[in-house]
Order: sequence, then C-alpha cells, then structure tokens
Amino acid sequence: MTWLHRTWSRLRAMARPVPEIPASLWLQVLQKYPFLQALSLEEKAKLRALSALFLRQKQFSGAHGLVLSDAMALTIAAQACVPLLHRGEAQQAIALYDDFVGIVVHPGTMVAARDMHDEAGLVSHRRMMLEGEAMQHGPVTLSWAAIAQDPLQQNERGTSVVIHEFCHKIDMRNGGADGYPSLPGHFLGLASAAEARQTWERTWASAFAAFGHAIAKSQRFGEPAPWLDSYGATAPAEFFAVACEAFFVNRSQFAQEWPQLDRMLAGLFRPDAR
Ligand SMILES: [Zn+2]
Repeated sequence: MTWLHRTWSRLRAMARPVPEIPASLWLQVLQKYPFLQALSLEEKAKLRALSALFLRQKQFSGAHGLVLSDAMALTIAAQACVPLLHRGEAQQAIALYDDFVGIVVHPGTMVAARDMHDEAGLVSHRRMMLEGEAMQHGPVTLSWAAIAQDPLQQNERGTSVVIHEFCHKIDMRNGGADGYPSLPGHFLGLASAAEARQTWERTWASAFAAFGHAIAKSQRFGEPAPWLDSYGATAPAEFFAVACEAFFVNRSQFAQEWPQLDRMLAGLFRPDAR
C-alpha cells in the first residue's frame, strides 16, 4: 500500500464515528484482568473509548495462520491503552501510538535471530525466544501464548507482555528504546525540564544498578530473587518496560518494592495527580 493511499484511508477512518465496543465483549475482557477490574468507573469508560479508537486506528494480523477474534484484539487494545488513561483527552493520548499501524500476533513464542554486541566489541549470532517486540516507527509483534497466560498469575508477578511492548513504544518516541521517555511538562512539580531529566536519570540509574546486584546475588549465592522480572536486568530499556508492567498490573506491590520508581512512573503516566 502506498503512503498516500494509507494516509487517505486513515483520514477517512478518522472522519467516521468510532463504533462502541459491544458491552458483553467489553465486560468479558475486563473481568479477566484484576488490574482492569480495579479501575474506577470513570477510568473504565475512558479505557473503553481509548480501546475503540485503538481498534479503529490499528491493523491486526495473525501470523502462521492464527485467526484473531474480536475478544483477542480487544484483550490487546485494552491493555495497550492502560498507560494512556491519564495522558489527556482520548484523541490526544492515543497520538502517543501514532507512529505505527500494524500489530502482528504470533500463536506461540517467536524465534528471532540476533547479532549481539558485547563490551569487547565481539558480535555473536544468537537465536532468542521472544514474547513480543516493538520496532521504532514499525509494528508491534506479540505472542498470543504469552498474552493468554493465567491472568491471576500475571497479576501476582506484575506482568503483561502487551503493556511491556507498548511502553517500549512510548519510550521510543524521543529516540531509541533507552528507558528515558520524554517527560510531561512540570514533571513532579520540578522547576525545569533539565531538572526533571536529571531526576529521572539519577533515580533509574541507581535502581537499575541495585536491581542488577540483587539478580546477580540471587543467581550466584542463591539469595531470594527480587520480585520484579529478572529480564529487566538486561538493559535500562528493559528495566523501564518491566517496571511499567508491574506499575500497571500490581501497583501496590510495585510501590512497596520500588517506591522511588513508583513516584517516577506516577509522574510520567499520571501527570495531573498530585
Ligand atoms: Zn522489552
């Protein structure tokens, strides 16, 4: 499809009214996830409107013969829109995802071939199992097997592969995925954008180092593993995405374990709450 054609069809799509999500389908998805159930009535209504916009603007496709049902698409849309709930009006918030259209869903985990660069400059070719992937200005790829894990277990662990990948997207809006997304104005009431950035960088860098030590101690000396997904220790971008999952899925546990990061993510995702 040419760019012009795509732009026109998107403009046409935007001019039409957004159809409401059928109530029975909406409740079916909402009821599966404790963190969606826990939202206020006002937040649920906003999430439904955001999800409808999301479904209108994105193109879903199933890989390897996977046929996507409405319930599957809505399961993805609803979780993807949770980070947008307090980022302004629905139309303005959904623009955080306006650099891509495609969402590709694989039935199982995906095998990806990657060149890995280590600190000594050595490049090795590896095959990795992926549950999802977000490409800058490109599609989001997700594994349905990962999404469809038991919601209660996901709640306990504070995980959601959908939130993970879409928070990478938010992180990538100001450049590559590095764990430093662009921050809302008046972040945490700090006087300047420079002060906001320094506070963000300092807080995340020290938490990332502490997390890396805790993971290493648990692996080498058998000490209890930290609650947060150990995958977060692989890179600052992954630490940010893993922390976002925990913040949205099980905030009370996250705030207890990482109060300083909870404050940062509240400043990013709930800029008007003081
Ligand atoms: Zn990731």
